[in-house]
Amino acid sequence: MTQSYVIIGDGIAGSSAAETLREGAPDAEITVITDEGEALYNRILIKEFAKGKLPEMPVSIHEPSWYEERDIDLRLNTLVTNVDPEGHRLRTHEGERIEYDKLLVATGGTPAQLPVENSDAEGVHHFWTFQDARAIREHVERAETGIVVGAGLLGIDLAAICGEQDVDAHYLMRGDCWWRYALSTEGAEILHEAMRERGVEPVFGSSVDRFETDDDGHVTAAIDPNGDRYEGDFVGIAIGLDFNTEILQGTGVECDDGILVDEYMRTNVDDIYAAGDITRYHDTILGERAQNGSWDSAKSQGTVAAKNMLDPESEPFRFVSSYSITHFDFPFLSFGHPTIGDDEAERKYSDTEWRRLAFKDGKIVGGVLIGDLSPQSAYKQLMEEERVVADQKEVLLEKSVDLENLAPTQEQ
Ligand SMILES: Cc1cc2nc3c(=O)[nH]c(=O)nc-3n(C[C@H](O)[C@H](O)[C@H](O)COP(=O)(O)OP(=O)(O)OC[C@H]3O[C@@H](n4cnc5c(N)ncnc54)[C@H](O)[C@@H]3O)c2cc1C
Repeated sequence: MTQSYVIIGDGIAGSSAAETLREGAPDAEITVITDEGEALYNRILIKEFAKGKLPEMPVSIHEPSWYEERDIDLRLNTLVTNVDPEGHRLRTHEGERIEYDKLLVATGGTPAQLPVENSDAEGVHHFWTFQDARAIREHVERAETGIVVGAGLLGIDLAAICGEQDVDAHYLMRGDCWWRYALSTEGAEILHEAMRERGVEPVFGSSVDRFETDDDGHVTAAIDPNGDRYEGDFVGIAIGLDFNTEILQGTGVECDDGILVDEYMRTNVDDIYAAGDITRYHDTILGERAQNGSWDSAKSQGTVAAKNMLDPESEPFRFVSSYSITHFDFPFLSFGHPTIGDDEAERKYSDTEWRRLAFKDGKIVGGVLIGDLSPQSAYKQLMEEERVVADQKEVLLEKSVDLENLAPTQEQ
């Protein structure tokens, strides 16, 4: 009998799953449903588009013809509103019922709103879709002053867009440095300095109490909890994601700030899998639950989920992710889970080069590299091998990392 596979979400997780399913099941029915109006595009590159550095074309990955050629039924502009696991079917916003034998939920997240007055004013932007990027680009090209909120990997994209588009901006952060859970002030200062050179002023110990607007409802300023006022006709907010799990309400699928899956990307409900940003998965390297918001991890999860949908328990997910950006002229890379751990080591090599490693139970669990990214593969290898190396920080922080210089691993 022909199997039918339905995938909700045409991001990199959903799309990779569709490709793998088609390769493994030439005769299966495969449907990909997305509420967006365009097929898979490169979410990583939309910031370069918003900076004005790229035209639209290279950002697109798949045209609808890519799906047609593979006999994959792509449904654009279609919102799934609920899932019925008993009946093995789901419902769309137009009331259509679509049946599945196996379902993959790859719905990612939606940017969280800042719960303050006027945070929905005209001129306040969140950043997730290509449509968001178009609106941001159009606005920053004519804006003179900006405010950015959110000291993480997406917030810095918005700060870099302001810097690149000559918008004088204040970057409001709650702590004493950018991405304080993964960087120290010494490492972050390299980026702060570069921001300042591009007209983006980091403001520490701040955030937003309320936004002010003009008579037309357009944002004009932010007032921070210290009572300081920052002018901005462009505002970019990136304070995290709300995961798109609402369609699973009442299904019995276990959710807890994401969808809980095992190492095979299976939920606790038969025939329902999940992949990408939306999952809290069993990380076989950490030996505990983890979450990851990165392109390469979402891609790999989509592929692994599809393999297990085709052949249950055929491939566990085991992956060291990395997230690299080049803003303010600095190569920057984080890998693994740099915000967790019980031990750390860091070193500054020059005004533009810095590294930090996070350890848990003596093993590398993540890190951040600024300037020179070349040691990344050595660190990722050690993490993947789960080697106990925290007692050899000097060797690990050598400018040029040579794994041969590490003492042999002791039996555990
Ligand atoms: C501006 C920006 C820059 C980034 N830069 C980097 C980077 O440099 N490096 C890196 O590794 N990662 C980066 N990321 C993160 C990376 O893009 C994500 O981790 C990755 O795209 C997640 O893929 P996904 O398929 O899990 O989810 P998504 O790409 O979010 O796809 C989920 C899709 O499901 C759709 N959907 C949701 N609910 C429904 C529903 N009910 N019905 C139908 N469709 C639905 C959504 O609209 C969306 O299209 C960046 C993200 C952004 C926004």
